[in-house]
Amino acid sequence: MSDSAADNASAMPGLDWSEFPEWGARAAQWAGDYHAGLRAEPVRPPMQPGLTLGALPEAPPEQAESTEAIFRDFEEIIMPAMTHWQHPRFFAYFPANAAPIAVLAEYLASSVAAQCMLWQTSPAATELETRVMDWLRQAVGLPEGFSGVIQDTASSATLAAVLTMRERALDWAGNEQGLNEAGRLRIYVADEVHSSVDAAVWIAGIGRENMVRIPVAGPNRGMDVSALEQAIELDRAEGFIPAGLIASVGATSVGSTDDLEAVLAVAKAQGLFSHVDAAWAGSAMICPEFRTLWTGIEGADSIVLNPHKWLGAPFDCSAHFLADPDSLVKTLATQPEYLKTHGADGVINYSEWSIPLGRRFRALKLWFLLRGHGLEGLRSMIRDHVAWAQMVETAVAAIRGVEIVTPCMLSLFTFRLHPEGLSHAELDDLNIALVEAINTDGRIYLTQTRIDGKLVIRFQAGPFSMTRADAEMAIAVIGETAERMQEG
Ligand SMILES: *Cc1c(COP(=O)(O)O)cnc(C)c1O
Repeated sequence: MSDSAADNASAMPGLDWSEFPEWGARAAQWAGDYHAGLRAEPVRPPMQPGLTLGALPEAPPEQAESTEAIFRDFEEIIMPAMTHWQHPRFFAYFPANAAPIAVLAEYLASSVAAQCMLWQTSPAATELETRVMDWLRQAVGLPEGFSGVIQDTASSATLAAVLTMRERALDWAGNEQGLNEAGRLRIYVADEVHSSVDAAVWIAGIGRENMVRIPVAGPNRGMDVSALEQAIELDRAEGFIPAGLIASVGATSVGSTDDLEAVLAVAKAQGLFSHVDAAWAGSAMICPEFRTLWTGIEGADSIVLNPHKWLGAPFDCSAHFLADPDSLVKTLATQPEYLKTHGADGVINYSEWSIPLGRRFRALKLWFLLRGHGLEGLRSMIRDHVAWAQMVETAVAAIRGVEIVTPCMLSLFTFRLHPEGLSHAELDDLNIALVEAINTDGRIYLTQTRIDGKLVIRFQAGPFSMTRADAEMAIAVIGETAERMQEG
């Protein structure tokens, strides 16, 4: 058989790998220009629902279109209505950082386009994952003995942990028999836990009524430990089955953090499986000085932190550490014959550690990231963000009519405008108007939350490309806008 270029050319119209380098270079140039110009753009696009939908044809194309036309529409239709998550003044939500070195790895990983579900479907991807997850374990100061796996999201890691709690409490019978005869399992969480935990509990069939919300107390807004103990005792007395505990380090709303040493001791004493959600704050644990926030973490059964938030691995890349992966595998592994690997003993099939079977090559971006910046580089980014958030907090506290509601937890604090003489509802409306005015201005982007019934505005410093000048601009924008609102 001949092997000429003509034989190898695709019969299908459309972009061919032979033309890929040209377009890859164009995309790379576009990406470089995009990032170079971001600082001058408003962080959030104009709020006009339907803008994109109206610009898109209602029916799919029957004939191949040129790459040129597709690329042009990407620039003209899509980009004008995107919120710029990599903008250096994106201070809303939590960050979703994408370090350029890790974006490069994503580009390579999507070009190789391997399915990394089993060791034999991509041996290097599996073994790299084992290695980089152990690097990350060391980087955040977890003791030896924890094994890591990369999940798509913290939501998936938490669901996997809740399923493990369920199966362990039912002596591994739930997957076989269903939950009809199971009795009522109970899961204990702090009142300010992330909404993904609610979803995990109901998807696992435990039911949200059996998610026992423990009131928070103290400056860190962690679970009241004696209330936790009482709730478990009461449940046992009433015939419920306490199955698990989910603790938080840096919950989303205002960074609420449980006293891990105390709550994990309760979990251990009560025989509960414990999971710690440190999705955002976990990245900061690469800095030893912040590890007091999770003192006692070595007592957890399961821990999740998201390198796809603060650390700089582009979404999705969620690090899930387990004290005993066997319980997870016992819960999740299906092992039909077509997925068995014969003739290679002792290999890890990471699909057995996750809910989906298929897996992207996510370890590559973490490897590029850790090597490309080094732990010292990443630590200094996080330290800068924490210092700049404190600087912004101090300056915002001095603005007329403004109060800090929750102080900096790492790089997150909340504030609100509270002029004299307004009702509760009027204050909420005023603060919604303030955050909208700030975001319409466009130089910075903030979001709101509700705490103790009050509408408050969140500020978090986290963009990978942020500088001190960006923090100073945040101070100026918040100050000017708050003044304007009070002038009426
Ligand atoms: C962001 C976040 C989550 C959800 O993370 P995903 O990876 O998007 O599922 C869960 N918990 C906390 C505390 C978070 O900040």
